[in-house]
Amino acid sequence: MLLAMLSLVTMGIVISLLAYYLGDRFARFPGGEWDGGHGEFTTSGRLSSADSWANRAWPAIRDRVQFPPLYLPAQQVASRLNPGKVYLVDPANLSCTCNYFLIRGARAAIGSKERLCRHLRNVYASQGNPSALIRMVLLDDAHYGETDQLWSGEVDGIPVVIAWREGDPWVAVYTRASITNGEPDFQRYVFHLDNAAWGEGRIPRANAQSIRQMLADWFADPHLAA
Ligand SMILES: [Zn+2]
Repeated sequence: MLLAMLSLVTMGIVISLLAYYLGDRFARFPGGEWDGGHGEFTTSGRLSSADSWANRAWPAIRDRVQFPPLYLPAQQVASRLNPGKVYLVDPANLSCTCNYFLIRGARAAIGSKERLCRHLRNVYASQGNPSALIRMVLLDDAHYGETDQLWSGEVDGIPVVIAWREGDPWVAVYTRASITNGEPDFQRYVFHLDNAAWGEGRIPRANAQSIRQMLADWFADPHLAA
C-alpha cells in the first residue's frame, strides 16, 4: 500500500516537472503554434519546422563577459518580489541567499554570468564600475536571462552586447543609438533570425550592417547579412 502511494506521488512529480519543462519551452515562442498532430513547432506565417532557428543547431559562442569577485562587504538587500524578505549578498564570494543562487548560481563557476542572481547583478551594476553598456544589460530585468549566451565587444568601433537563448529566434542587441559627440546613448534592439530582420521598427544607426554580418558568420547563415 505504502509502495503504491509512493509510486503515485513520484509519478505526479515527474508529470508536473514534464509539464513545467514543456510549458517553459513553448513560452519562449510568442505567436507560435504547436502542431500537435505532427509534433512540429511552426511560427505562424514564417519559416516552418526544420528551417526555423527554433529547430536548428545553434553556434557555441562562449561568454566573453567575466564577473570576477568584488571586494566589498556583504550587504542585506530587500527582495522586490517578496515584501519583507531580505537576502544576504556577498560580492567578495559572489554568493547570495536567494532561490536562484541556491538552486543554480552556486553551481556556476566564479566569474561566470550564470553565477549572478538578480541581487548580485544589481550590486555589480551599481558598485562594480562596469561599462555603461554592461550596466544597462545587467539592469535590464525584463529581458536578462541568467543562462543566456552573452557576447560583448566592439563592432565598427562601437560597444555592442549580443544576447540570445538557444531555440528563441529573437536575438537582443545592445548598442549605441546615436552617433553624436555627447553622452553615449545605448539602447536595446532585437533581431529575428528566421525573418532576417530587425524587430520593433528600430535599427541601430551606426553599425547595423556590420552586426548583421557578424550574426551571419556566427550562425553560418548568409541570409542574416544585410
Ligand atoms: Zn540573489
